[in-house]
This record gives sequence, C-alpha cells and structure tokens, in this order.
Amino acid sequence: MDHREHSREAALALAEGFGGRAQYIAGRLRSGSSGRTHPVVDPATGETVCGYELAGAADVDAAVTAAAQALPDWAGATPGERSDALHGFAAALSARAADLALAESLQCGKPIKLSTEFDVPGTVDNTVFFAGASRQLEGKAAAEYSGDHTSYVRREPVGVVGSIAPWNYPLQMAAWKVLPAIAAGNTIVLKPAELTPLTSLMFAQAATDAGIPDGVVNVVTGTGPDAGEHLVGHPGVAMTSFTGSTAVGRRVAELATRGVKRLHLELGGKAPFVVFDDADLEAAAHGAVAGALINTGQDCTAATRAYVQRPLYDAFVAAVADLFATVRLGDPFDPATDLGPLISHAQRDRVAGFVKRARDYATVVTGGAAPDGKGAYYRPTLITGAPQDSEIVQAEIFGPVLVVLPFDGDDEGLRLANDTPYGLAASAWTRDVFRAHRATREIKAGCVWVNDHIPIISEMPHGGAKSSGFGKDMSAYSFEEYTQVKHVMFDNTAVARKDWHRTIFGDR
Ligand code: NAD
Repeated sequence: MDHREHSREAALALAEGFGGRAQYIAGRLRSGSSGRTHPVVDPATGETVCGYELAGAADVDAAVTAAAQALPDWAGATPGERSDALHGFAAALSARAADLALAESLQCGKPIKLSTEFDVPGTVDNTVFFAGASRQLEGKAAAEYSGDHTSYVRREPVGVVGSIAPWNYPLQMAAWKVLPAIAAGNTIVLKPAELTPLTSLMFAQAATDAGIPDGVVNVVTGTGPDAGEHLVGHPGVAMTSFTGSTAVGRRVAELATRGVKRLHLELGGKAPFVVFDDADLEAAAHGAVAGALINTGQDCTAATRAYVQRPLYDAFVAAVADLFATVRLGDPFDPATDLGPLISHAQRDRVAGFVKRARDYATVVTGGAAPDGKGAYYRPTLITGAPQDSEIVQAEIFGPVLVVLPFDGDDEGLRLANDTPYGLAASAWTRDVFRAHRATREIKAGCVWVNDHIPIISEMPHGGAKSSGFGKDMSAYSFEEYTQVKHVMFDNTAVARKDWHRTIFGDR
C-alpha cells in the first residue's frame, strides 16, 4: 500500500467516525431531523464517502437555544478567561492537525500539501491570534466631553451569531467566522456548506475538548434555502455573517434586513492582476500561475484577469502557458500533486460551460478540457482575446481559468482592473514605487498586493468592496463586526435642575 492509499483510508475512517451525524449542538454530535440525507462525496473519485441527515428547522432552533443559553456565562467571562480557552483551542487543533488535513483533502479534493501547509496552520495561527486579540478589546477611554458628564464606551458582544460558510476552504471559513465572534464574547451557530461538513464538525469538537463551554460553538449542516434561511431569519439570532456567492449574499441580505439584523457579507471576487511594463516577468508569470490555480481556482481572491502592458504581453502569455504545462494534476493524497479536482462534477461542468461559451469570442491558448477519469478535474486554462465586457472577463468562474488581456497606458490598465462589479482583491506588478502607490490607491478592492498575489495573515483584515460585500474577517478589524459599542454617560453635577431642562420648563 503506498502513502496515498494509506492517507485516503485514514481519511475515510475519519469520515465514517461521524456515524452519519453532522450536527454539533450543545457540545454533542447529533443526527439531523429533516428526514433528508445528503452525501459527502470525494471529488477525486466521485465516490460517496459517507451520508448524513441534513439539519431541519428544529435542529437550527435547538442550536440557537444552546447558543442563547451559553451566552450569559461566555459573555460574562473575563477577557483573560476567554483567551486561555482560545489558547487551549489552538492546542487542541494542533493536536488534530494531521486528521484535519486528511478530512479537508477528502471532502474538497484539495492537494494534501495545501491542506497541510496552508489550511491547517492558517487555522491554528488564527486561533492563537484571537486568543491574544481577545485581551485587547477596548472602548474609548472615559472623558468629560460635555464638561458636566463623564462618558465612556463599552464594547459588548452582539449576542448569538448565525454564520454561513462556503465549501472552498471549509476549515478556514469556520475559523474566520467562529474565532472573532467567540473571542469577543458572542456564541455562534455555524452552517457549513452541505458538501463539506467534516472539518467544521472537527473544529467544533476541538473547541469542546479544549474546555470551551457547551453551546458556545454549534454547527448545523443543512441546505441553504432550508437551514440557512431559517438561521438568518431566526429571531434568536442577532447577527448574520455570510461568506459565499454574491447572488446568495443578496438573498441573505434581504432576509437579515427584514429582521433588522447586523450583517457581514464576504462575497464573490474577480481579482485583477495588473502587470506594468517594468515588472519582473518571471515573478509575474509565476505569481499569476500560483495565484490563478491555488485551490484549483476556487478561491475568492484568485487571480482571474491578468492585464499586461503591451511590451510584456506576448512574453507573459508564453511564460504562463509554459508554466501551466508543468502543473501536476493528480490524487489529492499524493504529496506531489499540485492541482486537485474541483469540488464537484457540477462545478466542473459549470466551469467547462464558461470556457465553451468563451470559444465563440476568445482564444483558448491551453487547457479548456477535462482529463479522462472519474474525478472532477479540469485542466489549467489560459484564455486570450476576450472583450472586456464578455462573460469570461466579468463573471466569477471559480475554476482554474486565467484570462490575459493587453493594455497600453497606465490609466487604461487601472481602469480595466476596476471594471467589474467585484472588489475583493487585486495585485499590481511593477518595480516603480510611484506606479505601485498609484495602483494601491486607485484599485477599488479590500486588498491590493504589490508584486505578490494571495498571501493572507491573521493580523490583517480580509473583506471586500463593491459587490464583494462589506465587513472584515481576521485581524482586530473583525471585532467591529462582532461587537457593538454602547455609550455610557454619568452626570457629574448632582444638580436636580439641569441647565438644559430650560428647553422643557421654560424659565422656571
Ligand atoms: P454559495 O453562495 O452557493 O453558498 C454559500 C453558503 O450559503 C452555503 O453554506 C450554502 O448552503 C448557503 N446558502 C445557499 N443558499 C442560501 C440561502 N438561500 N440562504 C442562506 N444560505 C444559503 O457559495 P459556494 O458555492 O458555497 O462558495 C463559493 C462562493 O463563495 C464564491 O462566490 C466565492 O467567491 C465565495 N467566497 C467568498 C469569500 C470571501 O471572503 N469574500 C471566501 C470564500 C468564498
């Protein structure tokens, strides 16, 4: 038995260990009660790994009740106590690092080197970050702004948070949603995508093992229209935090607005990658290939539209085509695999549909096909010659597809970069400090990299502009979403009749 078979076998045993239960409520793994089952499928083989009963409204209700019951004690804990619990959580996750990577690779088809080197350590680092950050929460220091009063600001948890996550980075999305919420004293009900529940459940189990009280972290796994909408509209939920597509985000926003709920939306992206004519071509070409293909292109910040200034254009296209040919598609459990399958055959067909339609108006330079075999694989695909207003340039494809287009002046490059509804992430490639500063200023996005594309760090905020949503994940900025500020004002005069009462009592 080689290493791959051994890993898949271990991952399948982990999935089997859930015994068809994919709800985690009040510190206990439970079966759903919707009466409908859903499979977890290995996208590398197309085979069902396990099945589970989906959450129905009753499960969401039970999870919200558990979160509400846990709220007073958790919100009332000292920052130091919450910090200790989160440090324990980080240790519990580290102890399960290998299992988390196996389960993530199994349910997503993610290359094991990506799960092991990116998803799991990123999650542990986030947990350690929020263990520290939970002790840094502060309001505005007290002062006598009116002269006669002392004012200060309390920063308080919002209450029970309902979060909804996508399937592309299930473990990291669980971390991004849960950690700032609980570090700030909220409790949470997380709904992972129904395709990928395993690592969200393991994440919640690690919280319990670390001594985080039952009910602080709950997971309900159900479909979006069913469990998702019930969670967003639930009267016991004070805030909705959603990561997913812009189309579903709109629906979630409508429901949350109806309930006058606090809302945080992390939506789709179509990141531009702007290469100026003084850029390091080797760096830009490698950056574009890694930035476009990470997680098989199923990354909201992936490089999707490369605009290359005319003098470098032909060389850039040739370099990217050559590098695409070196990327190794394969079994996610093979440590040598660079590119795994897409999340599902349906997603693969969706990506293939975009490329098929693009053939009518653009050139497919490399790729544009699925390899033989059972998995949901698709070859790295390079497209040129597409009009700026075409579907392949404007729509989020969420697959291993990069469009490369030329531009002439700097104004044109920056204008094209901003010319989609999205504004999540972008990069500028240049050795000219003035060009770099101008690009970072003028590109409308939540993040602009210079001479790199993709790296994220726990200390810095992640979130979008325009149709990519609003609000921040990670970093101390995320506390703005998960806390509310309360003004407290004390009268210092001890006078019964205040000056301002004249507005009511006339001259008396
Ligand atoms: P999706 O929008 O289809 O689903 C996301 C989640 O919403 C899932 O849990 C799904 O079950 C749930 N959902 C679906 N319909 C719902 C409804 N009517 N009410 C409530 N919940 C509902 O997205 P996806 O296909 O799982 O993930 C890919 C998308 O996520 C891409 O658009 C990608 O850009 C986006 N994404 C964004 C970020 C970010 O940080 N901005 C990060 C990762 C992924």
